[in-house]
Amino acid sequence: MGSLFECHPADAIVLMEPKPAGNMIHFIRQELERIIRGRIMDGTEKILNAGLDAEFFAKLPFESFLGSLPRLQLSAGKFPEASVTIPCFASGDEKFAVFLKDGGKDFLHRTIIIFLRSHFGKRSLMTGRKACGIIRRMKIAMLASEVAPFAKTGGLADVAGALPKVLSKLGLEVVVLMPFYRETKKKDFSLKKIGSAPGFIWNGKQENCSLWEHREGGLSFVFVEKDEYFDRAYLYGTPQGDYPDNGERFAFFARAALETLRLLNFRPDIIHGHDWQSAVALAYLKHVYAQDSFFAKTRSLFTIHNLAYQGLFEKEILGRVGLPEFLFNMEDLEFYGKVNYLKAGILYSTAVNTVSPRYSQEIQTPEFGHRLDGLLRKRHGSLFGILNGVDYSDWNPSTDKFIIRKFDASRPGGKFDCRADLLNSFSLPGSKEAVPVVGMVSRLAGQKGFDILCDALEGLFKLGVYLVVLGTGEKTFQDALLSAKKKYPQSFGLRIAFDEALSHKIYAGSDIFLIPSRYEPCGLTQMYSLRYGTVPVVRATGGLEDTIQEYDQESSTGNGFKFKEYSASALLTSLSRAVSVFRQKERWQALLTKAMSCDFSWDRSPREYLRLYEKISSS
Ligand code: ADP
Repeated sequence: MGSLFECHPADAIVLMEPKPAGNMIHFIRQELERIIRGRIMDGTEKILNAGLDAEFFAKLPFESFLGSLPRLQLSAGKFPEASVTIPCFASGDEKFAVFLKDGGKDFLHRTIIIFLRSHFGKRSLMTGRKACGIIRRMKIAMLASEVAPFAKTGGLADVAGALPKVLSKLGLEVVVLMPFYRETKKKDFSLKKIGSAPGFIWNGKQENCSLWEHREGGLSFVFVEKDEYFDRAYLYGTPQGDYPDNGERFAFFARAALETLRLLNFRPDIIHGHDWQSAVALAYLKHVYAQDSFFAKTRSLFTIHNLAYQGLFEKEILGRVGLPEFLFNMEDLEFYGKVNYLKAGILYSTAVNTVSPRYSQEIQTPEFGHRLDGLLRKRHGSLFGILNGVDYSDWNPSTDKFIIRKFDASRPGGKFDCRADLLNSFSLPGSKEAVPVVGMVSRLAGQKGFDILCDALEGLFKLGVYLVVLGTGEKTFQDALLSAKKKYPQSFGLRIAFDEALSHKIYAGSDIFLIPSRYEPCGLTQMYSLRYGTVPVVRATGGLEDTIQEYDQESSTGNGFKFKEYSASALLTSLSRAVSVFRQKERWQALLTKAMSCDFSWDRSPREYLRLYEKISSS
C-alpha cells in the first residue's frame, strides 16, 4: 500500500498510489458509503455516486477550490509530496483524493480516520497538522456587526453576507459571527440554539450569552444573543443619534465572539473583522488573549468599509469592557482624548484592507484620512484595496422577486413596466416616457451628498425629471427632503424608510441613479443600478471613481456620468449630460444595454481575499 495522507481537518484524504487499482477505489467507496450512510454531505454524496473518475473530477462543483490548491501546496514547502497537482490525480496519474466538502463535521472526520487507520495501519497515515500543507481548508472567522439577509443598514451587510458564501465555495471553512438583533429575531430564519458562550468577566461579574446558528451548506452564521444590548429597534442608534452604550455593546459582541470560537473549537487561521464594531476584537486578541495558546497561530485582517465611523468613547470604556487601561496612550487606542475602537483594527491586525483600491489610497491623505491618515501611511506596506462585488443571485432583474416584470439585456422591455410600477408606488403621475426617472437609495448621511442634492433640487426639477428617494438617517436631511416633497409633489417621490423591496423597485424602475457622495469607500448601489439598466450619475470619488467610466458620445465608451467638484452645480452639469443622452433614444438604449453587461460579480475579489489570507497566514 502506498503512503496515505490525512488532512486535518479532514477535507480531503489523499491516497498516494503507484496506480490506483480499480478494486481499491471500489473498496474505499463501498466502505465510505457504508460508514457515512445517512450522513453524507453534498460533495461526498456526489463523489460517491459518480465514482472516482477523471471526468467526474473535472466537473466538480468546487472546481474553483481545486484551482486554488497549488498555491496552498507551494506555501507548505516542507513536503515533497505536496507538489502534486491535485486536480490531475485522477487522470492516469498516481494519486486520487476523496473530497469531503464539509469535512469540519466531527462525526464524518472521526469515522473516516478510524476507518482508514483500521484498514491501512497507523503508519500509513500522516496525521494532524503535519499533513496540512497538502490540502487544508483555511479557517476564517468573520466578525461583522451586520450581515444580509439577517440584519442590514448598508453595504457592510451585503458584503458580509456575500463574501463568506464565495469563500466557502472556494474551499475555505468560514464561520460568520454577528450580534443577534431584534431585526433578525423578527424574521423567519431557521436558527438553532447551539449553546452559551462560557462566562467571561463583564462589568465585574461572570457573563454568559446564548449562541444561535444558521447553516447554509458548509457555511455557519453564529448569532450572539444578549437582549439587553441587541434587542432594540435599531442596530446602532435612533435617527436622533447613536445609542450611548455602543462602546459596551460591540465590545461585548467582540469578546463573546472570541469565546464562541473556543467553544466551537474553531481555531481560526484568520480573524477577519469588519469596521469599528469588530475592530475591538483585535484589541482583545492582542491584549487579553496574548498568552492564549488557542489563538497562538491566529492572524488577522481588518477591513475598513468606512473610515469615518470609528467608534469613539470616553477613556473609562477601557476598564468597563475589560481592556487594559494602559491602552489609553497615543501609540495605542487614544485618539484626541477619546478611545478609538477602529484604531485597534488598524494597529493590531496583521493586514488592513479597504473595499476599493482607490479608497485605500485616499485614506492615506488628510482629505479622506479622518485624522488617521498618518497611522494609515505607517501601515501602507500592509494596506490593500479589494473592490467589493455584487451577489447577482440577489441583484438580478431577470430573477428579482421584488419587481413587477423581469428583464435583462437581451429582453429590456420589462423595464418599462417596472418604471410605471415605480411611479405608481410613489403616486407620481403616469409613466411619461420622455421624462427620465432619477432614483436614489441611500443612508441619509452627510457622506452621501444630501447637502449638495438639496441645493441642486430646484435646478434638478428644471431639467424635467422625476426624482425618487428612498432613505433613512439623519433628521436634518429627512426634514429637508420632506419639505422639498411638499414643494414638488408632482415630480418628487420620497420614502423615509428602510425597505429592501422598494429599493429593488427603484433600481429596476429608474432610468438614472444618482450618487453624489462626498466620499465613497466602494459603493454598491452604482453596481446594482448598472445591472438593472439604470445609468449612474456619480461623484468621482473612491469606489465610484473605480467603477464608473464617463460616457463618451463619440466613441460610445463608458458606463455612466461623473463629476469631480463637490457642488450642486457640478452635480447638475453631469445630470444634464445624462438627461440629454436619455433623450436620444438609440444612444440611451445602447448605453443601457452596455450598463447591464458590466460585471462586478464576486468572482474576482474573493480570490484576492484568498491570496491576502495566504499571505497573512504565512507571515
Ligand atoms: P453604505 O454602506 O455606505 O450605506 P453602499 O452603497 O455600500 O453604501 O450600500 C448601501 C446598501 O444599503 C445597498 O444595498 C442599498 O440598496 C441599501 N440601502 C441603503 N438605504 C436603504 C434603504 N433606505 N432601504 C433599503 N435599502 C437601502
